[in-house]
Amino acid sequence: MHIKGGNSYLPQQMANALKSPVQRNKIVEAIRSRERGVEVYCTDGSQYQADYAVCTLPFSVLRQVQIDPPFSGEQAEAVRELPYTMVTQVHLKVRRPFWEEDGYPIRMWTDSVLELMFPQQDGNGQVQSLVCWANGDSAKKLDAMS
Ligand SMILES: Cc1cc2nc3c(=O)[nH]c(=O)nc-3n(C[C@H](O)[C@H](O)[C@H](O)COP(=O)(O)OP(=O)(O)OC[C@H]3O[C@@H](n4cnc5c(N)ncnc54)[C@H](O)[C@@H]3O)c2cc1C
Repeated sequence: MHIKGGNSYLPQQMANALKSPVQRNKIVEAIRSRERGVEVYCTDGSQYQADYAVCTLPFSVLRQVQIDPPFSGEQAEAVRELPYTMVTQVHLKVRRPFWEEDGYPIRMWTDSVLELMFPQQDGNGQVQSLVCWANGDSAKKLDAMS
């Protein structure tokens, strides 16, 4: 379930395998298809040209990007209307292994607003923290709290 040295090695190695460096901190504001190739425009004024663009932005963000020619039909409807689920995480620092005393499992799927709780372990299997993970309606309830 883990990559030796940390899961971030996976995207780092993928980035290292690219011929040109990954451009970071760029906000794409427009993607235009031209007769020959594609142009990508960023908010800092930079532009990129290529034969093709593979765009993997979530639809919630893609809605704000100018696409030329624009999406149409069912594709446009999907980008415009696809709903996304809210997620709220609460991270708890653990002072002592209370689950060894109370008889309850450390992982829990509950019907409480915190929903799912599970441990984060370091490379030696030591529990570092607990993560509570609430989706959908529970996330909405938590977000509405002060
Ligand atoms: C809290 C949380 C925990 C999760 N845990 C898991 C898990 O344990 N296992 C699992 O399988 N899935 C998990 N998921 C789901 C998983 O993270 C997503 O399904 C996945 O990351 C979606 O990938 P993506 O490339 O479509 O979008 P994202 O990972 O959201 O990538 C979109 C990228 O686009 C960038 N971007 C946004 N706007 C612009 C713009 N205008 N210009 C340029 N770049 C832009 C963003 O910075 C981001 O890097 C989790 C999600 C959340 C929120």
